[in-house]
Amino acid sequence: MPTPLPDADLLLLLAVALPPRALDILGPVVDERFVETSYGRVGPLALRRAANGRGVWVQPYSGLPSRTDPRSMLLAARKLGVQRVLNWDTVIALNPLLSRGHAVIISDYIDFVRHQPHTFFESEGITGIHQSPSFCPQMGQALSLALPMAPGCVYVGVDGPRRESAPEARMFRQWGGDLLGLNLVPEIGLAGELELCYAGVATVTDVSADRFSAPPQGEMRYGLELVLEALPRFVEMLAAPATCGCAERLSAPRKRGLLANDWWAQE
Ligand SMILES: [Zn+2]
Repeated sequence: MPTPLPDADLLLLLAVALPPRALDILGPVVDERFVETSYGRVGPLALRRAANGRGVWVQPYSGLPSRTDPRSMLLAARKLGVQRVLNWDTVIALNPLLSRGHAVIISDYIDFVRHQPHTFFESEGITGIHQSPSFCPQMGQALSLALPMAPGCVYVGVDGPRRESAPEARMFRQWGGDLLGLNLVPEIGLAGELELCYAGVATVTDVSADRFSAPPQGEMRYGLELVLEALPRFVEMLAAPATCGCAERLSAPRKRGLLANDWWAQE
């Protein structure tokens, strides 16, 4: 098991394609590691370190059905000593107020994913765990301060790779969804089982199938830069100790004796 680094407690999962060297904004790469889990090997995860010493683990991440088991990614984070995970996703806008290039913060979600593992405990026969994983309020606040123009949105997690049909888009909007995406669900639930703080930020890549999609005019590049330039401030704000209460809320099943204290190290 790798030795955790106490000053590198944040993992950035990237479902966005960025220009080379764009992530230098978080500092140079100072370490790279592979992590073995029983759900697959993950890596190389790159550790970037800013001038103030804060470390951020960075890993490209795709929600396509061909991806590695999402449990391996979250478990690797836990094994690296990460406490907070930020997933930067690309999404389809259902909400008519959102269009290509917009930056949004994920405030809540609807789980419509049917073909991915939703729990670490499927084979354990454990019942009676009634957790409702929610996004970390402290990370959400830091995102809001770093990206003041980004609205909070409801994310509908779906399976890829096909795009939604127009009737499906109308249905998801009626449900209360603002966005469609492939990367945050079931990851938020898996992160919750590992007692990790979890947050989502997203860049809109297109509007839903029932809306008129104008030809791209460079909005994506601008939209990605907006989030990229906000990241150092976000990282800086998270240098403060956790006050979100996630650890206490998420550790309740373990503290009730339903799970072993260190089950993630035993897997
Ligand atoms: Zn938290």
